[in-house]
Amino acid sequence: MSNRRDPQALGCDVRVLALCSSSVAGLPPQDRLFNFTRPQRIPERPGLDESVVRKYIEAGRIAERVKERAEREARPGAKLLSLVATLENYIVELGGRPAFPVNVSIDYEAAHRTAYIDDESVLPEDGVVKVDVGVHVDGYIADTAITVSFSEKHQKLVDSAREALEAALRHVKPGVRVSEVGSVIEKVIRGRGFKVVKNLSGHSLAEYMIHAGDTIPNYRDPLNFSRFRPGTAYAIEPFATTGRGVVGSERRVGIYSIKPSPNREGVPEEHILLNIFERVKTLPFSERWFPEIAASLGVERFRRVLESLSRRGYLIPYPVLSDVPGSYVAQFEETVLILDDGSVIVTTDRKVL
Ligand code: MN
Ligand code: MN
Repeated sequence: MSNRRDPQALGCDVRVLALCSSSVAGLPPQDRLFNFTRPQRIPERPGLDESVVRKYIEAGRIAERVKERAEREARPGAKLLSLVATLENYIVELGGRPAFPVNVSIDYEAAHRTAYIDDESVLPEDGVVKVDVGVHVDGYIADTAITVSFSEKHQKLVDSAREALEAALRHVKPGVRVSEVGSVIEKVIRGRGFKVVKNLSGHSLAEYMIHAGDTIPNYRDPLNFSRFRPGTAYAIEPFATTGRGVVGSERRVGIYSIKPSPNREGVPEEHILLNIFERVKTLPFSERWFPEIAASLGVERFRRVLESLSRRGYLIPYPVLSDVPGSYVAQFEETVLILDDGSVIVTTDRKVL
């Protein structure tokens, strides 16, 4: 998932997610696969004790395997619905939970498309397909994305986003301004002849929170004064585009989350809200995750209820975010965790350090 900023408010707050790996002593052998650079003890203090770090790393390890599977399964002609269902089931099989519905955004769509419960769409020939996967373990989230392209035509675009992310990850250190990372991303992507998407950005993460307050811009933003802090997880997610470099909301909405609301008196659909909350808390969800509601109300009525709850402020809608039709957008994302001792772990990609 990405953070969308209002185009009028550029310069304020755009967010994206990635987790990195560095140094932890005393973790089980599989965690050593993360190739920690400097073995160190994690200081025991609330917020980021060893069990929290383990959960972030476990979520990242699962997300990494799901990305690998996405690379194998995303093919021209593959059904969107079976692709997202396969990947979400795989997350659960590996011991995690989806932190949001798997996003599969195609060509000029940059983010937030997922399959509807009755979706018939298939992946196109020559498509540029972004697969964005979120995994949580007890609320600790790994947010990561890859772009798969089916022809050589879009390789340069895809490479520019991947290389921008690799360069960005090398700059993440406590005390470094997040805008500096944005500047690195912008330089790489513009240097390859593409634009960054300015109103989508990386973000900090917290327990059960995909967007936890900090924004990691994909360009040099002199007005963003925030700096990377120890004890925090961040998603870094550059977007490269052949289009305008600004995304807008489409009418299509396939993802919602519950907005905490102290006053629900007289809301006839309260039982639906509570039923959903029971399962996903305030994390984003898809209608696909509630087949029993869809069956009892009918799919169309279920959608109208979700739209209505969203209009009245009980749900947050995440519309599909797109650049201009005919353009192509590529995205890569990793989650990094900055430990209390300042070392940086890419949780979602053991190759990047
Ligand atoms: Mn994401
Ligand atoms: Mn993200």
